[in-house]
Amino acid sequence: MYQIAQPLWSVDFFCMLDISNKMKICKKCNIEKEYNEFSKHRNVCRQCRREESYASRRKKYKARPWTKTFDTAYKRCNAKTHNYFIRGIKFLLSEQDLKFLWQRDSADKLKKPSIDRINPRGNYELDNCRMIELTANIKRKKADRWQTEFF
Ligand SMILES: [Zn+2]
Repeated sequence: MYQIAQPLWSVDFFCMLDISNKMKICKKCNIEKEYNEFSKHRNVCRQCRREESYASRRKKYKARPWTKTFDTAYKRCNAKTHNYFIRGIKFLLSEQDLKFLWQRDSADKLKKPSIDRINPRGNYELDNCRMIELTANIKRKKADRWQTEFF
């Protein structure tokens, strides 16, 4: 029996059109949104998921404040465009090490605790790190830059 070949695109094309107009209700905010505002197989919209991840990070930083120092210092050494990564400064601390430094230097009592490398050319290692006031840290950095440029 002779069959007319169905052009494949016709079915797919109309399916796609159909999906693009479909709406879905977010399980979190209960707002009806378009399909493209959801990740694949998710019932919570992208915006709600983003807010959830911010909230969980805030919660983590509040419960274990040294994790914020951990995350920011880790990023400085591992982001390919960051000055520290380019200079080859390595982040060799664990979260436990940071907790130790935090408690040893009573970072809770500082206004803005920040991690300082005692030898500014050294890596983030346990015996080269301490927690100090952010303003003091910035002052140290400026003094070091001045030294490297003029001596
Ligand atoms: Zn939502």
